[in-house]
Amino acid sequence: MNKMMLMTAGPTQVRENVRMARSTVTTSPDEDISFCEYYKQVCDKLAQFFCTKNTFYILSGEGILGLEAACASLTEAGDNVLVIDNGIFGKGFADFVKIYGGNPILYTVDDKEPVNVQALEEYLKENHDFKYATIVHCDTPSGVLNDVESICPILKKYDILTVVDSVSACFGEPLNVDKAQIDILCGGSQKALSAPTGLTFLGVSDKAIETMKNRKTPIASFYANILSFVDYYENKWFPYTMPVSDIYGFGRAVENVIKDRHIFVRHKKIANATRKAIETAGLKQYIKTGFSNTVTVITLPEGINDQELLQKMRERHIMISGCFGELAGKVIRIGHMGENADVACMLETLMALGESLEQMGMTLNCDMKEIFLKEVK
Ligand SMILES: *Cc1c(COP(=O)(O)O)cnc(C)c1O
Repeated sequence: MNKMMLMTAGPTQVRENVRMARSTVTTSPDEDISFCEYYKQVCDKLAQFFCTKNTFYILSGEGILGLEAACASLTEAGDNVLVIDNGIFGKGFADFVKIYGGNPILYTVDDKEPVNVQALEEYLKENHDFKYATIVHCDTPSGVLNDVESICPILKKYDILTVVDSVSACFGEPLNVDKAQIDILCGGSQKALSAPTGLTFLGVSDKAIETMKNRKTPIASFYANILSFVDYYENKWFPYTMPVSDIYGFGRAVENVIKDRHIFVRHKKIANATRKAIETAGLKQYIKTGFSNTVTVITLPEGINDQELLQKMRERHIMISGCFGELAGKVIRIGHMGENADVACMLETLMALGESLEQMGMTLNCDMKEIFLKEVK
């Protein structure tokens, strides 16, 4: 198999020490008290990293399981839920709310810019009878970054619980969960954390747990039931067998991130230089403002087919992303998050992108790697 450099918007590259941690000899997580201790230590490190008193849980399943678990655990039949929508993942929350009998009320705004905080504040003055609200930090298909640290406190003023999908922003964009007043933070293993796919984590406030415990009806799920994790440490018992190797790898990735003192500066520098190179070359970004430092989303130029371009990139041993939903065939995405946020990797990616586009008949206004190198210094 040819070695492929992974520059997709998730999964991201996985460092060798994370892969090694996954090959550690394992025991039965049900019998081994030290595993339970390890799990808790990793969860406590997450809480520390995100500056919060909230309790973290790692669930076996992709990021999507985290979003579903938040909705499954909070939603009761007839509950009004505010679904803040300026992108595909934003809107997607409505489906989870509906599945669990809730009544999603969409607040839909332009998908090419971040949610306008003042406009939302105005809307809430008239409309605030919601049990909880959902918002996406970085909506990965478009790359738009919402200011959740400003938005969630406004929701909390009306006693609305806040659910934030930060799967593709956290670890690449700074986030202070207590300052933001987030009741349920949803994250994943495979984006900026740079662990392999397969795990989701949730940072849950006492208020959210209390709300779940005070439900009139039981949570209509087993696998997506956050309450079933709440007493794991006291009881030394998980609701199902934990994927030990996945969690060892995840724990090592968390250590890597904590040791990485310049993580946010590096993401910012690389993202800025990438955008500058793309724009100078004459390519257009999909959104107008509010660029997340974890991903760059480029509108496909006239006459350029995404599958053909992605194939040309793969022939150069670099994998980038297309898109799905409404943006399928309209954009391509470069994920410069986590281990991908690396100058050498980005240089190769831009070089390959330039060559591929020119091979497909496009003329670019500059050599993107030169601009990138100048900007990233
Ligand atoms: C990747 C991602 C998820 C999780 O999707 P999976 O398919 O489970 O990996 C959720 N939200 C956002 C914004 C994401 O980028």
